[in-house]
Amino acid sequence: MSSEVIPSEHGRAWIEIDLDALAHNIADIRSRTPDNCEIMAVIKANAYGHGAERIAKRLVGEGISTFAVATVTEGVELRSCVPDGDILILGCTLPKDAGSLYDNNLIQLVADGAHAKALDATGYKLRVHIAVDTGMHRLGVEPANFAGIEGIFKCGNLTVEGVATHLASPDSLDESDICFTRAQMESFYAVVRKLKDRGYNTGKLHAQSSYGIYNYPDLACDYIRPGIMLFGVHSQADDTIIKTNLEPVLSLRAVIAQVRRIEAGESVSYGRLYTADEPIMLATVGIGYADGIPRQMTNNGGMSIVNGCKVPIIGRICMDLLMLDVTGAGLVKAGDVATFIGTDGDEEIRCEEVAAAAGTITNDILCRLGVRLPRSYLENIN
Ligand SMILES: *Cc1c(COP(=O)(O)O)cnc(C)c1O
Repeated sequence: MSSEVIPSEHGRAWIEIDLDALAHNIADIRSRTPDNCEIMAVIKANAYGHGAERIAKRLVGEGISTFAVATVTEGVELRSCVPDGDILILGCTLPKDAGSLYDNNLIQLVADGAHAKALDATGYKLRVHIAVDTGMHRLGVEPANFAGIEGIFKCGNLTVEGVATHLASPDSLDESDICFTRAQMESFYAVVRKLKDRGYNTGKLHAQSSYGIYNYPDLACDYIRPGIMLFGVHSQADDTIIKTNLEPVLSLRAVIAQVRRIEAGESVSYGRLYTADEPIMLATVGIGYADGIPRQMTNNGGMSIVNGCKVPIIGRICMDLLMLDVTGAGLVKAGDVATFIGTDGDEEIRCEEVAAAAGTITNDILCRLGVRLPRSYLENIN
């Protein structure tokens, strides 16, 4: 991404999405996966805040034909920009929405035997994958309930096209978590073998989300299910077995509305949490927690980049505004741009740092961005 910051044409605050970085990430992920393993791009929650429509279109342009989202509504919206690809709904769709699944040729991940029976009873001919709960204990049929899994194959209106599981701690490199993950996979493959032995076609198998890809590269299912990885960031600043070369797709910037001097002893923002020890230059920026800047970053290491210099967020973050101490950033004036995620000059703020300051993971930060912010897409089709 260009480090040149272009102000104001976007309004008070905006998100920049580098679609070429997305394409780069797809190429990087592909270079690390076996040839017979395809990417199922997980673009739920509006593509983790990046805008599902433009992200999906570029992914299709990069040859991706299989997608996953969380809800039937997300699936219906995605279908309008992905006319031909497969779209898997990961969440537990209610029987009342079976018609939407059918009309939009969506594939449903069935949570258990009861879910399958309820969908079957609607009379719609539905394509499904089966979720096997190998230890995540969220959705899925437990391997011990093999009859329940078999029962799904016997639902006359459902066509089973795949079997999946979800790993509980693929991000952890602790011995006990690695053992747990290996046991999850063994239990998954045991179910698949048993089904095959009894003559069932298990279809496509899939288990790995981003950290399954990073840390268990030897697992070779038919699909991998990367979500956060597509967007070029880790969930948090951590080490992984595979060292990727991903580029962050998203930048977050806002315009400085006002700059003024604050004297020693004066306080800033709600609750007067910040008091200046010496005179500072204070900049007020038109972005706040309603735009997705986590309020938890208050007094917790939240930073911005102004004029290529890193500066701290000071005082309580407000709903629509926040304040920076720009004393160290040279001559700063109203209209200048502050970067909260991304690069400006030689400085960079990674989404992982924002997540750390907010006590959460990047997935959480990104999917909350942009309810109110316009997105600007950068793309050089080569
Ligand atoms: C969200 C989700 C993913 C993608 O997870 P990331 O950690 O973002 O890669 C994959 N599979 C399932 C079932 C999910 O719910």
